[in-house]
Amino acid sequence: MQHFPIFMAVAGRRIVLSGGGDAALAKLRLLLKTEANVTVFAADPAPEIQTWAQQDRLTLHPRGMEPGDAMCAVLFYAANEDATEDARVADIAHRDGARVNIVDNLSDSQFITPAIVDRDPVVVAIGTEGAAPVLARAIKRDLEEKLPAQLGTLARIGKTFRRAVEVLPFGKARRDFWAEYYFDHGPKSLELGEDAVIPALEDHLANTLNKSEEVGHVDLVGAGPGDPDLLTLKARKALDKADVVIHDRLVPHTILELARREATIIDAGKTGFGPSTPQGDIDALIVEHARAGAHVVRLKAGDATVFGRLDEELDAIAAAGVSYTIIPGITAASAAVATIGQSLTKRGRNSAVRLITGHDTKGYADQDWRALATPGEVAAIYMGRTAARYIQGRLTMHGADPATPVTIVEHASQPGQRIHTATLGTLSDTMAGVTGPALTLYGLAPRAALDAVETLPLQEVAQ
Ligand code: SAH
Repeated sequence: MQHFPIFMAVAGRRIVLSGGGDAALAKLRLLLKTEANVTVFAADPAPEIQTWAQQDRLTLHPRGMEPGDAMCAVLFYAANEDATEDARVADIAHRDGARVNIVDNLSDSQFITPAIVDRDPVVVAIGTEGAAPVLARAIKRDLEEKLPAQLGTLARIGKTFRRAVEVLPFGKARRDFWAEYYFDHGPKSLELGEDAVIPALEDHLANTLNKSEEVGHVDLVGAGPGDPDLLTLKARKALDKADVVIHDRLVPHTILELARREATIIDAGKTGFGPSTPQGDIDALIVEHARAGAHVVRLKAGDATVFGRLDEELDAIAAAGVSYTIIPGITAASAAVATIGQSLTKRGRNSAVRLITGHDTKGYADQDWRALATPGEVAAIYMGRTAARYIQGRLTMHGADPATPVTIVEHASQPGQRIHTATLGTLSDTMAGVTGPALTLYGLAPRAALDAVETLPLQEVAQ
């Protein structure tokens, strides 16, 4: 981000603009929405500007700028549509100490003016750092349609009632109060006229105070393999409502950024708890926040029910008498197999697929190696990196063909995704080059067209 968006206090402050043509008019239409004192210097001002001056909406000096003209201005616009004149007046304004914008000259401007959706006091500013004005206009159009015209009125009236709402505890209770006002009670009462809004707010507050104390809730959410587009809509909605998000190490920041802005994000994979948080601590953390009335989202990579130690958390939540919902996610096996154009099961090849782990809490995990060694078997191996040599040894010992295809999908669905093709005989050597989270597909090679591909990023494979 090369430009940081802020909202600047301009009420009663001086804003100076040089120019009298179309570019000046466009900027002035925006500036006149503010409570700033606007001053225009233009030797040949457009008729609208003269009218505004007559209406006392701005001060007009019908001449070019001179040194000192931008004194005490917080902002200055050079809008002469003439590069030489703009450079001259910008220089004056710089010397006078104002922040300078030169219309259509991004590199010499100290600030830029965003596209604005105005529902005063609710104002949305849209910027593309000059890269895509068309896009900014499209977003603006979209928002203009989405945001009801009455939003400004509701916000203005709501503001006068903020003090009264301080009787509610800070945080969730107040947020819920306002959300219900803006999206339910407010619009309904406004239909009866502006005078009906304050009484509706008073009723709403009385009802809220009478309601019994809020209890929390836990959503145990599968975050999918990492691509935010692979989140379910339910997962998105849960993140939208979350007060607290407790997530695993494997959940990428691109997904965490989708959580409600006010949500507290807790990394249960590390930070504060040492290299890896003991399960008991995580259970206690979830319960503690839920008991305090929070909407907790327990965010786990893939699907929460696959190697996610879900049951231990459920036991703790149920024992605490807290309600919960499990929201399924796309597990790593599904994401990995999708990258190689294969199915996990296939008629005539395998009518069963095993989801196995390379190691569990006690060390390398034991499996039914004999059954897996049979030709045509397919397994999705989770946490199989350090156990690669062990798995290879077990399967070979039980008679599996060393030529059995094996595909390792690293960072499935994520920007660093890599597909490593191997065989059972080369599994542990191939795994030596793998550093990220990886899913081992035993018994599956990429579809024929992809056979030649080794360790290529997905984009190249896909073309
Ligand atoms: N609940 C998760 C699995 C947790 S166990 C799920 O359903 O996917 C952690 C293991 O999942 C990792 O060691 C790795 O084997 C696998 N995994 C998770 N995300 C992955 C990804 N994006 N790509 C490849 N493997 C992944």
